[in-house]
Amino acid sequence: MSDLTDLYQQVILDHNRRPRNRGVLPKANRVAHGDNPTCGDQCSVYLRVEGDRIAEISFDGQGCAISQASASLMTTQIKGKTALEARALFESFHHIVTSGEAPEDISDLAAFAGVHAFPARIKCATLGWHAALEALSSPAAVLPTSSS
Ligand code: ZN
Repeated sequence: MSDLTDLYQQVILDHNRRPRNRGVLPKANRVAHGDNPTCGDQCSVYLRVEGDRIAEISFDGQGCAISQASASLMTTQIKGKTALEARALFESFHHIVTSGEAPEDISDLAAFAGVHAFPARIKCATLGWHAALEALSSPAAVLPTSSS
């Protein structure tokens, strides 16, 4: 049996209390916004991409605990990764939140396995990830570089 205490596991609570990489990234060269109107979640993801690698990342936004904790965890997971690696991590995460299956080798992401029992919450959990992938791949996400 699943209930909300399963959903809000320790990792989620911790990221909610102390969000990592939160705020606007001053030297960002990419940004994308995510919006989940059914829950009222909003999330912006800022990236500084160097070559093909995510050198720096931050998120900013507001919404439910799941959306904010997931965005916070996402930044810690894909910082330093290439776009390809980030996409592979999202595939793993998406599998976890839709199936409830939690592979042991990616334990922090597995904290969100309980979300699968609440289908409406899957959009909350993936909001930050979608924004990050859009920031990585969309030409519209590219920001003009300020100092040159
Ligand atoms: Zn939400």
